[in-house]
Amino acid sequence: AVNRKFHPEDTIIEVAGRKIGAGYFNVMAGPCSVENEAQIVECAERVKAAGASFLRGGAFKPRTSPYSFQGLEAEGLKLLLEAKRQTGLPIVTEIMSEKHLDLFADVDIIQLGARNMQNFMLLKELGRSNKPILLKRGLSATMEEFLMAAEYIFAGGNTNVILCERGIRTFEKLIRNNLDISAVPLVKMFSHLPIIIDPSHAAGRRDMVQPLSRAAIAAGADGLIIEAHNDPAHALCDGAQSLDLNQFDTVMKDIKRRAEFE
Ligand code: PEP
Ligand code: MN
Repeated sequence: AVNRKFHPEDTIIEVAGRKIGAGYFNVMAGPCSVENEAQIVECAERVKAAGASFLRGGAFKPRTSPYSFQGLEAEGLKLLLEAKRQTGLPIVTEIMSEKHLDLFADVDIIQLGARNMQNFMLLKELGRSNKPILLKRGLSATMEEFLMAAEYIFAGGNTNVILCERGIRTFEKLIRNNLDISAVPLVKMFSHLPIIIDPSHAAGRRDMVQPLSRAAIAAGADGLIIEAHNDPAHALCDGAQSLDLNQFDTVMKDIKRRAEFE
């Protein structure tokens, strides 16, 4: 069970030679979407050099409008694997349908996005797999709903779950979502699972990424997932919240001064 009552110690998720949780802090970084080989490889090289330990990048994108860029899909996964081959960075990428599980065989961490947090069939399928899952909190999910979504994955036998707080909907319009920093201590009280923070989707603006990363570290988060792009002004998705690669380097230096890395 995800409940700490049944498992008093913090869980450490081991993936691709990295540890996540119980004080092992990791930064996952990369563009919102994989766009082409040069883009994803440059992002991978630069976020790795800055100190990130995982490459993120969406291939299947859950977009509000059906007319927006939907991701490169299977081709995007291939490009991510190519970036992994060239840099050695393990990859994290979102799945949108259980029908695609075979395509994700070489993905290191499968992301279950906020919009699918209560896609119970998908949760059950991921529960039957043995892949580490990055489970993002739904746009207006309560903590109970969030932890019960993780419980679905556990119920199928897969206990490799990392939680991610990515902001919740509030009335505030200056930011895209509102980072619920309480999620970190609440998860730590009620569960043994690691929780990381996504300051990029929480704020929707790049100038908030550093302050929210500091807040995440102060609250005791186990890591961060940050959007960084080689050319944010021309990004096909989420450019306004993406750091450019120099800005990512600067933010990483600040994070490294504040968080305890392995
Ligand atoms: C993403 O990581 O690009 C994403 C779509 O995140 P979320 O599901 O948190 O909105
Ligand atoms: Mn995004």
